[in-house]
Amino acid sequence: MSNGYQGHVARKRFGQNFLVDRNVIADIVSSIAPKPGENIVEIGPGLGALTAPLLAACGRLHVVEIDRDLIARLHQTYSPEQVTVHEGDALKFDFSSLPAPLRVVGNLPYNISTPLLFHLADYAHNVRDMTFMLQREVVQRMVAAPGEEAYGRLSVMLQYRYAMASLFDVPGSAFSPAPKVTSAIVYMRPLPAEALRCADSALLGKVVTAAFGQRRKTLRNTLRPWLELEDYQRLAMDAGARGEQLSVADFVRIADYIHARSVAD
Ligand code: SAM
Repeated sequence: MSNGYQGHVARKRFGQNFLVDRNVIADIVSSIAPKPGENIVEIGPGLGALTAPLLAACGRLHVVEIDRDLIARLHQTYSPEQVTVHEGDALKFDFSSLPAPLRVVGNLPYNISTPLLFHLADYAHNVRDMTFMLQREVVQRMVAAPGEEAYGRLSVMLQYRYAMASLFDVPGSAFSPAPKVTSAIVYMRPLPAEALRCADSALLGKVVTAAFGQRRKTLRNTLRPWLELEDYQRLAMDAGARGEQLSVADFVRIADYIHARSVAD
């Protein structure tokens, strides 16, 4: 049996695809542009493809890793003064336990990327920025505009909190083992606190989930639990529109309308 890359057999269940292309690694690190004294946390350092150059640039790093074999290697390779290893699941990690403002980076395990983005959204107020490698298809959904095919729940819920940009694509050949899909680097910066205008973010989440649950159906159908036809008149919105036609601001307006009404009742 093959010993895998650097003597480590990649574990599928942990979404392990290790970066091996030096040019791609250099491009990612230069787009992060780490500086000494910054608070940087890397999710899923793996065999250290990004960890080593990040550390060389900033001198000190936090990492969150779940794989025990990789954790043991990290302890062997780096001193505790250089790298603080947080052992366990990034989905359960309390990012507010780290010094802020935090810069979060990582070549994320693809199998948990969406729940991880939602988990991190809870810490947006502690975060300066985030730079991630994800499947290109996921990045396209994150940055999609209303009316585009990729526009959906992920676009609205993340654009509500972050300014985002897709920086560049990375081919499967840059990894070992090579994934079948193309990846992309996304940059995310939390919007200022005053831009988060929705009175009840959980309600916003429910409305958006319902509106995109059945993409072909109109708002009149998908938002029936909350809105009657007369509500659309008050909102100056078309009940015959579909979720994919609404902007993030439209969704915030709907959620705030429902919230205000429930408070008034
Ligand atoms: N950063 C390395 C690189 O670029 O070569 C490895 C990237 S690999 C795509 C994903 C890494 O995340 C692996 O090291 C994997 O063990 C780790 N990982 C997977 N699930 C995790 C989780 N729930 N919490 C923390 N780390 C996780």
